Amino acid sequence: MIKPTNPESYALITWTDSLQFKACFLSFAAQVKGFVGGCRPIIRIDGAHLSGYYKGVMLTAVAIDGNKEIFVLAYEIVDTESIDSWTYFFRNLRSLFAQYESQKEDWTFISDRMRGVESALFEVFPRATRRICCQHLYSNCKAAGWSGATFHKMFWIAANAYNEYVFEKAMSKIKDFDAAAYDYLKNVEEQWSVHMLDRTVCCDHNTTNFVESFNAITKANRDMPVLTLLEAGGGEFEVRDGHVKFPVTLGNIACGCGKWQGSEIPCKHGLKVIYNQRLDPRDFVSPFYKGLLTNSLMETTSTP
Ligand SMILES: [Zn+2]
Repeated sequence: MIKPTNPESYALITWTDSLQFKACFLSFAAQVKGFVGGCRPIIRIDGAHLSGYYKGVMLTAVAIDGNKEIFVLAYEIVDTESIDSWTYFFRNLRSLFAQYESQKEDWTFISDRMRGVESALFEVFPRATRRICCQHLYSNCKAAGWSGATFHKMFWIAANAYNEYVFEKAMSKIKDFDAAAYDYLKNVEEQWSVHMLDRTVCCDHNTTNFVESFNAITKANRDMPVLTLLEAGGGEFEVRDGHVKFPVTLGNIACGCGKWQGSEIPCKHGLKVIYNQRLDPRDFVSPFYKGLLTNSLMETTSTP
């Protein structure tokens, strides 16, 4: 359905040999066009577990636009996080960019250290730059036993240092604190301190906090079966009327103004959404107004 209704979009589903659902990858044309044409070349990748009966993982690629707002680029549902599933994800991303004539290969990816990402990225985008989320790096340090107020303070000074001088000064204090912590941080392969970041990316984020709100939005839907999950979130709109904004939900046939629910005939806000979505308003009117109910009632009563 995505391909005919959203031309040039990328939608791919794969099955197992026994025709069971295996994976799917989706990116709408507007998403990839917007990203390639207007976002900084940094992509946050993440995997979130699905909590429903069939389990699975949702892998996502999210960017940020010039207003620091999240810009979803692509998502994929797979059975588990592994080298294979991440390779499949990155290959699709690569074909997606190629479809929009972007031959760029040196994208910057920021993420936690999720299983399979490193190898998969190296295979598909060998020229990509990797950034690690400093929040995640700090947790790794904590797990290794380096914590406390002093370490916490020095770690974040080093992480947020805009120049090498400040960075080295904080690092030398970390060395005094614990030489092993210093060695560990010196050997981190991904970029993490702000002064290390590539200027051409034009983005000084060294944490993935900027997309936490995206995860918060999808959380409520992650216990749904795959098909329902992919359709989730649709049908919700906001319609401005003067100074007031009304929430309109097509699925529930409801508008914040209350008129639609009261009359079972779409209010003007509902109609705005219905026409915007190129739907037929008659489908949103109660059967009482269409004579349909009377017929079905008559049928029921005439059956002994
Ligand atoms: Zn209304």
